Amino acid sequence: MFDILINFGVVGRAFTNKICDIELYNPRDFTTNNYKKVDDKPFGGGAGMIMKPDILENTLISAIEQLKNKGVINPLKIYLSPKGEKINQNLINKLSLEKGLIFVCGRYEGIDERFIENNVDIELSIGDFVVSGGELPTMIIIDAIVRQLPNVLNSEDSVIADSFMNGLLDYPHYTTPREYKGKNIPNVLLSGNHKQIELWRLQMSLWHTYKRRPDLLEQRKLTDLESRLLQEMIEQNKK
Ligand code: SAM
Repeated sequence: MFDILINFGVVGRAFTNKICDIELYNPRDFTTNNYKKVDDKPFGGGAGMIMKPDILENTLISAIEQLKNKGVINPLKIYLSPKGEKINQNLINKLSLEKGLIFVCGRYEGIDERFIENNVDIELSIGDFVVSGGELPTMIIIDAIVRQLPNVLNSEDSVIADSFMNGLLDYPHYTTPREYKGKNIPNVLLSGNHKQIELWRLQMSLWHTYKRRPDLLEQRKLTDLESRLLQEMIEQNKK
């Protein structure tokens, strides 16, 4: 499953260029039974199967050992779970400062609670919905972390202007053709006046955030300039 992360696009190149590294562990390789069984029925009955704590722990010990050999001591151990803290850019920024991370991916109905209690530092969710395994959530988080590591994106593709990096949504982007299906690009973008363009982009970021994600503005103190730019848009759109 992880081929798509490791082999494609800018994030794939970061792995090829050894800016980051990934080791994959299959709990089946750490079973002691002939059937390589990693799950069992839930105590108390009910639907689905539960991943066994002993097998997960053997897998984890091996991953910790491997990281130790690479000089990473005490890696943060993350369990992907719909019950976890919802991931956001702030958390991604914090995780990107860690030297090593271990992601535990659940399957089936989930994993034995005792493994979580004994071993997991933080539970993270990608949103209020359920997918069938922790692998895709893990890949989403790794992608978000890796794309902002130094030397992964060109300076042209800088992450600094991305949505959420400054607590606002991104401004709208345009490319050729200048006119498309009767719609022209905003004149300011053709002005060559970089100061004006910067102000327009900031104003659009503020306006899009105000309209789509007012909760983000509640968490962010606006400067006098930002308040003025946003107020201008609110007034214009009243007319
Ligand atoms: N019974 C669990 C529940 O309702 O909380 C869902 C189990 S889900 C089918 C199997 C695995 O997918 C979970 O153990 C978890 O690792 C992963 N998973 C599912 N949804 C997720 C989400 N929103 N965020 C992170 N991981 C998720």
